[in-house]
Amino acid sequence: MNIPRTSFPRVVIIGGGFAGISLAKQLGKQEVQAVLIDKHNYHTFQPLLYQVSTGGLEPDSIAYPIRKIVKDYPNFYFRLTNVDTIDTEKKCVCTEIGDLTYDQLIIATGSETNFFGNTDIEKYSMAMKTIPQSLNLRSLILENFEQAILKSDFEERNALMNFVIVGAGPTGVELAGALAEIKKGILPKDYPDLDIRQMKINLIQSSDRILPAMSEQASAKAEDYLQGLGVDVWKNLRVTNYDSDLVSTDGTVTFRAATLVWSAGVKGATIAGLDGEQFITRGNRIIVNEFNQVKGFDDIFALGDIASMQSEEYPFGHPMMAQPAIQQGKHLGKNLVRKLNGKEMKPFKYRDKGSMATVGRNKAVVDMPNFKFQGVFAWFVWMFVHLFFLIGFRNRMVVFINWVYNYIRFDREARLIIRPYKKIRKP
Ligand SMILES: Cc1cc2nc3c(=O)[nH]c(=O)nc-3n(C[C@H](O)[C@H](O)[C@H](O)COP(=O)(O)OP(=O)(O)OC[C@H]3O[C@@H](n4cnc5c(N)ncnc54)[C@H](O)[C@@H]3O)c2cc1C
Repeated sequence: MNIPRTSFPRVVIIGGGFAGISLAKQLGKQEVQAVLIDKHNYHTFQPLLYQVSTGGLEPDSIAYPIRKIVKDYPNFYFRLTNVDTIDTEKKCVCTEIGDLTYDQLIIATGSETNFFGNTDIEKYSMAMKTIPQSLNLRSLILENFEQAILKSDFEERNALMNFVIVGAGPTGVELAGALAEIKKGILPKDYPDLDIRQMKINLIQSSDRILPAMSEQASAKAEDYLQGLGVDVWKNLRVTNYDSDLVSTDGTVTFRAATLVWSAGVKGATIAGLDGEQFITRGNRIIVNEFNQVKGFDDIFALGDIASMQSEEYPFGHPMMAQPAIQQGKHLGKNLVRKLNGKEMKPFKYRDKGSMATVGRNKAVVDMPNFKFQGVFAWFVWMFVHLFFLIGFRNRMVVFINWVYNYIRFDREARLIIRPYKKIRKP
């Protein structure tokens, strides 16, 4: 990898997501040689991916070059590659651009979409976990309407305008809301010769309420908002298969739909060498102790979505959200300095700052630890928090200006098919 050995201990961080970047910022000016490895050369702000998929934001405004984040740190290296294997005996990570030894290893690889072993759903549905996937979805949505306009067969046309979203967590809810707003404000103008009233947005949740990780109050209000926007919310319904045209469920209902978006779950993005069952728990996450140390190792740590730090309060680990990742990254940065200076590490304590989701213009739900609210104020809070956590001044400005423009003009300018998406169909 062409990285010199120096007198400083080498800390290798795999993953430049919320956790990896938060750790990098802590280590930047310390007396360590830090090497950050990521398969992308940018950090992705995943909470706004749905806005890229629905043409509200350009992809560049929710991504930030990792090299720019670490450019001022004197002993920092970035390498663009996928880590394939971790060799814990040789203390090295193996990649296609070479192997690299470590003194301390940090795994911050996040999570990937969980299709729960259903290969048809994996093959034919759309995931929304990365920027390329969001751009695929954006293209497919627009291509569907371009196709629908050409169809004289009523059923075929309606299938192209039928969107099924599986999983009503924040991602599913936000995407459904954004599609409903496009249906109302944009598509009738773009496609005056198509009966957009036939467009359907189905949001399917296997449990008895949407946003199950939030309060009942937030769930009920979000459902109200969605129904008001014309989204069909299906609860206690499980999607069992999708053959690129027909969505099957465990109920009596089926859907003919050209687009199935799978936002029903994620699992830890493990790496070979540390994926044995002795290291892994529920959700394919790596078991860590209160210092984020991987079970059985003094020099390997895991952070963020990939890490499951189980406690009485969080028996299944912290929620797979940005805040635990950011807080763990910051905390581990301080702990590593303590460790390398021969001092005791301090246990991590998560400070729950609450959770939120937006359904659309003036509609959001916010659960703070002691306070729950919904509506216009919640929507402003949602926007402020997302702007605050975006990395980069330019990104914040671009997103802010886009939002103001979209709000005033009822528009979403980025509805472009720049990179056409060829949907895979079952033969
Ligand atoms: C659509 C969507 C919406 C979301 N909305 C919210 C929200 O509103 N609020 C909230 O709190 N959370 C939200 N989340 C969850 C939040 O984004 C994650 O919890 C958070 O990103 C976890 O941070 P992380 O650092 O653990 O992982 P990530 O941010 O996923 O970063 C992991 C990094 O590791 C890299 N990587 C992975 N494997 C390898 C490898 N083998 N080799 C090299 N690099 C690798 C990846 O490229 C990536 O850059 C959302 C997630 C999604 C997908």
